[in-house]
Amino acid sequence: MQQFFVSEDITLNKRIQLDKDTGYQLKKVLRVSDGCVFRLADNKGDIWLCEYENGTALVKEKLDEDNELKTDVTAIVSLIKNDKMDFMIQKLTELGVKRIVPYKAYRSVVKEGKGNNKLERFQKISREAAEQCHRNYIPEICDYASLKDLRKYMSDINLVAYEKEDTGKKNSDTAGSVTFIIGPEGGFEPSEIAEIIETGFCSISLGKRILRAETASIYLMSLIAGAER
Ligand code: SAH
Repeated sequence: MQQFFVSEDITLNKRIQLDKDTGYQLKKVLRVSDGCVFRLADNKGDIWLCEYENGTALVKEKLDEDNELKTDVTAIVSLIKNDKMDFMIQKLTELGVKRIVPYKAYRSVVKEGKGNNKLERFQKISREAAEQCHRNYIPEICDYASLKDLRKYMSDINLVAYEKEDTGKKNSDTAGSVTFIIGPEGGFEPSEIAEIIETGFCSISLGKRILRAETASIYLMSLIAGAER
C-alpha cells in the first residue's frame, strides 16, 4: 500500500488537504478513486490509514507499526558520482539508516554543487525511499562535512571502512548507536585516514575484495541491520 509523508499534524478523523505532488501521485499516477485506502506518515513516528477523497485524506485509523531499526545508524559517506550517490542514499534508507552525512573527502572528485540543490535532491530520494519501504521516519540528510566536522557525528561505536585494513579485524560489538565512514572512489589519503583514526573511528575491513564505495556502504549497513534480526 502506498505511503506518503506529510508535514501537518495527523489526528483521527481529521481531513487533510494533500499537497500538489501527493495528490498528483495518487490521482494521476496510481489512479486512485474516492474511497481508496492509503497510508500517511507524520515523520514523528506515527503512520495512519486514510481514505482518499477528491484530493484530501480522511484519517481512519492509527497503525501500530514500528518499522525502524533499534540501532541509531549514522552513515558518513564520501561524495561520489551522482547516480551512485543517489543509489546509495536510496539503499541506505531502505536498510534503516537514521542520518546520512555527505563527506567531502580529500579525493572526492565530485563537489557539493551550487547552493543546496544537491542536498535537496538527496532529501527527496531518502523521502521517496522511506515512503516506498514504509519507514516511520525520513532519514535526515545532514550538511556537507569535512574532516574537522566528523567528531560531532560520533556514536557509541564508530567505524571507518578502510580497504587497507588487514582482513582479520572485525567489529562484533552491539550498541545503541553506530557511525560509519565510507571513503570515495579513490580511497582515503594516508593523512586523512590517520586523522579519522586519531579522532576515534576504528578502522575495519569488509573483506579481501575492494568494493565500490556504494557496495561497501550497503554491505556495512546490511551487517548492522542484520545483527538485529
Ligand atoms: N580506490 C581504492 C578503493 C576505494 S573503495 C583502492 O583501489 O584502494 C571506496 C571505499 O569503500 C573505501 O575507501 C572504503 O571506505 C570502502 N571499502 C571498499 N572495499 C573495502 C574493504 N574491502 N574493506 C573496507 N573498506 C572497503
